[in-house]
Amino acid sequence: MPRPIQATIDLQALRHNLALIKSTAPDALVWGVVKANAYGHGIERIFEGLRAVDGIALLDLSEAERVRQMGWRGPILLLEGVFETRDLELCSRLNLWHVVHCEAQIDMLAIHKTHLGHRVFLKMNTGMNRLGFAPQAFRAAWTRLNALPQVDEISLMSHFSDADTDKGIAAAMAIFQEYTHDLSGERSLCNSAATLRHAKDLKVRSDWVRPGIALYGSSPDHPAHTADQWGLKPVMSLNADIIGVQHLQAGDSVGYGSLFVADRPMRIGVVACGYADGYPRHAPTGTPVCVDGVRSRTLGRVSMDMITVDITDLPQADMGSEVTLWGQPQKISNPTGGVSIDEVASAAGTVGYELMCALAARVPVTVMDTL
Ligand SMILES: *Cc1c(COP(=O)(O)O)cnc(C)c1O
Repeated sequence: MPRPIQATIDLQALRHNLALIKSTAPDALVWGVVKANAYGHGIERIFEGLRAVDGIALLDLSEAERVRQMGWRGPILLLEGVFETRDLELCSRLNLWHVVHCEAQIDMLAIHKTHLGHRVFLKMNTGMNRLGFAPQAFRAAWTRLNALPQVDEISLMSHFSDADTDKGIAAAMAIFQEYTHDLSGERSLCNSAATLRHAKDLKVRSDWVRPGIALYGSSPDHPAHTADQWGLKPVMSLNADIIGVQHLQAGDSVGYGSLFVADRPMRIGVVACGYADGYPRHAPTGTPVCVDGVRSRTLGRVSMDMITVDITDLPQADMGSEVTLWGQPQKISNPTGGVSIDEVASAAGTVGYELMCALAARVPVTVMDTL
């Protein structure tokens, strides 16, 4: 028998989250963002659940090739554009749309030989200060692109630094608006947080929204809003079994460094999941788990292959009990609770994004589709 640990990918949850995003931005087209191998879910695994998107956005040319190989004929957007001139050949061949965020990328286009005009997304830096043209340089870049025979259509894009915080997007929007209001072309502005928090009050149209994290059912602005509060459902669940049980006396400790010390007699379960599976090593004692669907907590230090959980008050829990590290229990029908990946992430000082992306290759994954 393989180690009793299992990740589950729920395609119905993905479809639900996509429908929710569409209802939040009913007039927008939706880029499904699948960079980083679909935030750790696996592009091939989730592809069926993404049929209703209008385009697929990612970073790696190899991921774009995989998406085309799966038969996707719709738009694909390279979110960082190309890295060298040769990449443009693949863009022409696979009909990939690409971001243009700097002069060097325009230089590459200008020497690229192609019969088919490219669709580009010209990116403005509205305060994130990662990629994009300064607002004052944006028009010149647009004019230069517009004059290139290699370019067929120019769309306008930016990425907000504070869509998930109280600072919000108003200042960035004002800049974008000031420097683009008389330029033609479709717009793409909103990630998950901007779509959920601001799409309803956007004063500038946003033709294409770009949700990533919300598709996968984690809250883009936890703890301001939980996934539940947004109505998002977890796509990824991580479950493992109890493979050992220990009885502690007051004063006994648990795990490396004796980090947890019992102050009373306790029963603990040893779970077949550790940081080598992608569980965060920084998760402290008290990080929430479910044992057979009932909430409990971790104890002591996370080790490479195991963690320990408190089953003192769960007399039914025993060898083989299912422990939910995040997402939904799988062995119980109609589970009521589950553990949000955002709760686990914030206990460990990180975000749901990082936990999803870090799911280890050694964890077997099952795709669940109840269509
Ligand atoms: C990753 C990314 C997104 C998606 O962001 P989420 O916070 O996951 O919704 C959108 N736009 C760009 C440019 C990105 O790099």
